[in-house]
Amino acid sequence: HAKQAGKGCYEVFDTTMHLQTVTRLQLDTDLRHAIERQEFELYYQPICDAQTRELVGLEALVRWRHPSQGMIPPSRFIPIAEETGLIVRIGQWVLEQACKQLAEWRSQFPHMAHLTVSVNLSSRQLLQVNLLEQIHQILDRTGLPPDCLNLEVTENPVMQDIKIAGAKLRHLRNMGIQLSIDDFGTGYSSLSYLQRLPFSTLKIDRMFVQQATHQMESWDIAKTIILLGHRLGMTVVAEGVETEEQARLLQNLGCEYLQGFLLADPMNSGAIADLLRLSL
Ligand code: C2E
Ligand code: MG
Ligand code: MG
Ligand code: MG
Repeated sequence: HAKQAGKGCYEVFDTTMHLQTVTRLQLDTDLRHAIERQEFELYYQPICDAQTRELVGLEALVRWRHPSQGMIPPSRFIPIAEETGLIVRIGQWVLEQACKQLAEWRSQFPHMAHLTVSVNLSSRQLLQVNLLEQIHQILDRTGLPPDCLNLEVTENPVMQDIKIAGAKLRHLRNMGIQLSIDDFGTGYSSLSYLQRLPFSTLKIDRMFVQQATHQMESWDIAKTIILLGHRLGMTVVAEGVETEEQARLLQNLGCEYLQGFLLADPMNSGAIADLLRLSL
């Protein structure tokens, strides 16, 4: 397009490209030091029972407090971390921190002993040779029961390497850890591999929840995904629930759990502790 539009556009294009490259390189460099400088923080978003609206779980969502750029959302740095391989160390920090935090909350708030923490696992971590050992160690160190941990994996082309991923996922499941397939419906999963992998939970991507407000037919997709999940023995979580209408429709379709701004935003650990204290 730039070529057709003439010379001026080349310059704009080049400048933009250059800026993007510099910013990205800078972020990449900064990312290398972010763990040791303790710039990451976990936020937690409640997952609630669709019928009772009671809190059943928390999804850990990483935030990067950049010293000069402020809070950077995961959509801006997780892809870089995945490309450079830094995701393995970041992911390990997230896992350890989330397990430690839930173990603490469980002893502080014994009435909340059923709570689970969901941690997003990148496909790169799934291919990591020592992942299982790492998770064993983290559970040992923190004392968190394995069934309180839920690992969320997105559909991804890498996961088509079902031999490697499948064996690990089965091992994790046998340890008692729960497994979720995240952002379902947006990726590459084939139905046959969904059937072969030991997922306990299916998370419907928020796209299907939010589209559905505008056209009634598009609820058909959400409905079909819920039926599919149940058919394969999974419980279903809807992501991105923003309105009461969406919540009610999903509940009527048999969706067990809801997550989204309607129920609660992702919050820092102080705010979650307040919530847990209140729900006594
Ligand atoms: P995800 O795992 O699907 O997480 C849900 C995302 O949806 C979160 O964005 C959350 O803030 C957002 N969200 C929740 N409720 C609503 C809603 O009602 N409406 C809308 N529009 N959005 C909602 P966030 O925190 O920016 O994270 C984005 C993605 O980054 C996550 O998607 C996940 O794929 C990735 N991510 C976050 N933390 C980690 C991590 O520790 N490790 C890895 N590998 N990936 C992570
Ligand atoms: Mg997730
Ligand atoms: Mg998701
Ligand atoms: Mg998502």
